[in-house]
Amino acid sequence: MSDQIRIKNLIDGKWVTEENEQTVPLYNPSTGAQIGEVPLSSQATVEAAVKSSHAAYLKWRKTPIGKRVGYIFALHTAMQNNLEKLAESIAVDQAKHIAEARGEVQRVIEILEIACNAPALLQGETLDNIATGITGRVTRQPLGVFGGVAPFNFPALVFGWFIPFAIAAGNAFVFKPSMESPLFMQVMGQLMIDVGIPDGVVNIVYGEREVVESWYQLPEVVGVCLVGSSPTAKSIAEACGKVAKKTMLLGGAKNYLVALEDAQIDLLITNIIQSGYGSAGQRCLASSIIAVVPSLYDTVIERLVEAAKKVTVGDAMNPDIFMGPVISARAKERIEGHIESGIKEGANLVLDGRNPELPEANKNGYFIGPTIFTDVTPCMEIAQVEIFGPVLSVMKINDLDDAIDLIRKQPTGNGACLFTQNMYYAEQFMADADVGMVGINVGVCAPHPYMPFGGIKESLVGNNKVQGKEGFDFFTQNKVSTIRVVAPSGLLSSDSTTEEAVTVTSKGNVRSCIAS
Ligand code: NAD
Repeated sequence: MSDQIRIKNLIDGKWVTEENEQTVPLYNPSTGAQIGEVPLSSQATVEAAVKSSHAAYLKWRKTPIGKRVGYIFALHTAMQNNLEKLAESIAVDQAKHIAEARGEVQRVIEILEIACNAPALLQGETLDNIATGITGRVTRQPLGVFGGVAPFNFPALVFGWFIPFAIAAGNAFVFKPSMESPLFMQVMGQLMIDVGIPDGVVNIVYGEREVVESWYQLPEVVGVCLVGSSPTAKSIAEACGKVAKKTMLLGGAKNYLVALEDAQIDLLITNIIQSGYGSAGQRCLASSIIAVVPSLYDTVIERLVEAAKKVTVGDAMNPDIFMGPVISARAKERIEGHIESGIKEGANLVLDGRNPELPEANKNGYFIGPTIFTDVTPCMEIAQVEIFGPVLSVMKINDLDDAIDLIRKQPTGNGACLFTQNMYYAEQFMADADVGMVGINVGVCAPHPYMPFGGIKESLVGNNKVQGKEGFDFFTQNKVSTIRVVAPSGLLSSDSTTEEAVTVTSKGNVRSCIAS
């Protein structure tokens, strides 16, 4: 056990381990081997992290914005210099394929570039003369300490969605990574120390839901943000509502990819493979239902099965394979349960990914190969639940209206993609598909960091989205000041501006509150 990784909390600039710490084992999903332990932090540790962040916040918010952004710029450089190390941390415990892990880190580097625009994007507004002698001013201000919660599947991206925006705006942050993918924040936390981000501005605390539940009781925590499943999002929304804390909660998904008669077939098949089997289907924008019009249905199935059979499965660190494992033995069992349910409900299992062939070293890993059901109907369980694994359901639809109607009936509304060459249909889909993010001839409709990211319905509990210039909205308040400048007593013989304002606004039956 000597080469086991001991995950540590980062509190007030120091990596710490509690005495008599409770832990849970950490596994490498590619091999099934235990590789370390992750702390289940105590209430005292959670409170210490929040207190440290609050003390840091009081100084950090007064730090000039250019200086704050300077740290984020330095972090950007540090990430570029450590890209491989950061990517490997994701490929080991989350078992995202190493090429995709590099892509995730690269995406975060791009997101930091947006956060570095804080001095431009956080400017407020001023309007002179909104009443006689009165100026109105809107200032974007930080709020305090935010708590953030990450899902297992994007340990880096979710760091990028929350922390650079929160701290560039002058807040402090306590981050709770997923217990299943804790490694990335160990590397990232050290980079934050190395570039000199002041102690406590970002603290990292590991644990399960109890960490978040402690935040609800702590007055220093002004808001909680999450990327996770919809039930988790709803439970945090309910708890925070009771204690009047802000929330930004990105939830689960069930995404449609719709193919019309004029879809370019090669582009379509390549994108279904990337979308359905990239990250072993564990993406909130993974296409799960492939909805195809009758004229193309048989062709899509034939071409898709042929392409899916070529998807190679194996260790996430192996650059020659396409798809790694799913996150845990529990997830594997759950996904296999959905495959069983599809069979029982009468869907046609044309490609069965259970028990794929694997190298000896990966025999105990959590693998499911590419799986395809056809003849799926909307009421089947596999058409309704978020499977979050490499399982595609092909469904026959009558036309585009049919697809739009099915999408509207989904409780979640993260993304949806359409393949067509007809801009009339594309426009109709962009207007009417009841989701937050749309792809046209694109299989994963993840917006570029310059654009906001987020769904609707149960995919986004609350209104704020992440990244892009909207990425600051959740982490700032628009404070509005109404300003009348009065001359110091004795400096002028009479304050004509004030007099005029009172006279004007008190006229007749209308009395303005600002002149009272
Ligand atoms: P999860 O909801 O099980 O856990 C997410 C995080 O919340 C973890 O850190 C977990 O410890 C914590 N948590 C769990 N229950 C909690 C509770 N009751 N109170 C407070 N915290 C709690 O999700 P997961 O399995 O880690 O991640 C997969 C899910 O995340 C999928 O549903 C996926 O669609 C979603 N996701 C959504 C997006 C998006 O942009 N909408 C992006 C990535 C992942």
